[in-house]
Amino acid sequence: MQSTAKPAKRADKEGTCVNTVRNYQKELDKLIAKLSTQQSVHQAEGTDVQRPRLLLHACCAPCSSYCLEYLRDYFDLTVFYYNPNITEDVEYRKRVEEERRLIGMLNTQMDDLTEPHAEIKIIEGDYDPASFYEITKGLESCPEGGERCFRCYELRLRASARAAKELQFDYFTTTLTISPLKNAAKLNEIGERLGEEYGVAFLPSDFKKRNGYKRSIELSKEYHLYRQDYCGCVYSRMERERQKQSKIDGLS
Ligand code: SF4
Repeated sequence: MQSTAKPAKRADKEGTCVNTVRNYQKELDKLIAKLSTQQSVHQAEGTDVQRPRLLLHACCAPCSSYCLEYLRDYFDLTVFYYNPNITEDVEYRKRVEEERRLIGMLNTQMDDLTEPHAEIKIIEGDYDPASFYEITKGLESCPEGGERCFRCYELRLRASARAAKELQFDYFTTTLTISPLKNAAKLNEIGERLGEEYGVAFLPSDFKKRNGYKRSIELSKEYHLYRQDYCGCVYSRMERERQKQSKIDGLS
């Protein structure tokens, strides 16, 4: 998907302004390397190793699978399940229960891991689809990936930033960047802005990188996770149904 977020600008050696595209995975690598060094120093000194607390906004179990497997080595994780964009109640319940089931399975593996890991926790936010309908009013027919989605990202990230601040987390971020259908640059731009607004650090991410998306498919198979075939709102479900129908029509 084409990113609509503006590339960062920097001056080259001659002082000319050039555009650069940020690599969020590399930024995360650097941050993790710094945290790992600090933890090694603590270990060498025999002092308590305090792993940073991360509030991870999660959209569904399949997308969470890789993110949790990857991040649990570096952070104490709490999943924040806040998704009022899943406009149908039955679908919402199904996805949140699947998220809990995945976390339960991952927590049973902790004893087998080489490094000590804290249990992954989960907080369920309010389920208030009215807030989603309110912010997306007038954008119902907007195709997936457009302005309606940007507002939807902001709704979910704002609640995550607020919760991270209230509960004194060190960082917050979202699993949404794992999806090839989501705009990672826009998600990071919104996350950083809200991080500044609420005074809590946003963890940069582009989880689809390093075969993250591919790994999430493997893990979904391994754990027999329910994988929905549409994003979440009723508009995305109708869009997917139309795509499926035109495929069938094209075959007949
Ligand atoms: S398609 Fe997905 S991201 Fe876009 S508005 Fe609907 S639920 Fe939100």
